[in-house]
Amino acid sequence: MGVFPDCTVFPDEGALSYASRAGVSTRDATTASFYEAKALMAVRPVLKMGHPLLARVAPPVERFGTRELRDLVVDLDDTMRALNGAGLAAPQIGVPLRVVLFEVDANPRYPHVEPVPYTVLVNPELTPLGDETEEAWEGCLSVPGLRGLVPRYKSLRYRGHDVEGRPIDRTVHGFHARVVQHEVDHLDGILYPMRLRDLRNLGYEDTLFPDGLAVPPD
Ligand SMILES: [Zn+2]
Repeated sequence: MGVFPDCTVFPDEGALSYASRAGVSTRDATTASFYEAKALMAVRPVLKMGHPLLARVAPPVERFGTRELRDLVVDLDDTMRALNGAGLAAPQIGVPLRVVLFEVDANPRYPHVEPVPYTVLVNPELTPLGDETEEAWEGCLSVPGLRGLVPRYKSLRYRGHDVEGRPIDRTVHGFHARVVQHEVDHLDGILYPMRLRDLRNLGYEDTLFPDGLAVPPD
């Protein structure tokens, strides 16, 4: 741990996953010099509810395809994977920019959850399609251990850009629409407990779901 001062969360998994994707051997990754190790490390601490950065409205990204933006996405990606999250927003790792990342693979732990394609979304804009909402359980890496029953629009169109500035324009429904709404709320300083209709529908995951069936946090 001593050589990874900037990384308090699962440093080894982060280094190894980055190393495997970058095509370097795990031995090289784990024996790299201090500065090389720092460059490989991309798992960042996730801010928790109560931190003032989570309550701010984040400003838009003004330049696409920059080294800073690409590095930010690598950090978001490694942090989300290390924590088994469904998504992560830049403010959650202390970066006040309108950037979110999400992906949900088919997972036997969450058999009722539909897969969502890997997406990096910069400067997103959401347009609900209709007024219809539905409630479902959500969790959040910034609100660890809890789950809440959150109303969201069932269908929406979202637009934005990828890291290189290429446009993204999708119409989605159900769980995919829910994940996007949760992540984009982070860019406006909103955490899911603020969306609950009834605070009695907020609780600890291990008490609400003793059999472990819930949704991945994002
Ligand atoms: Zn969240």
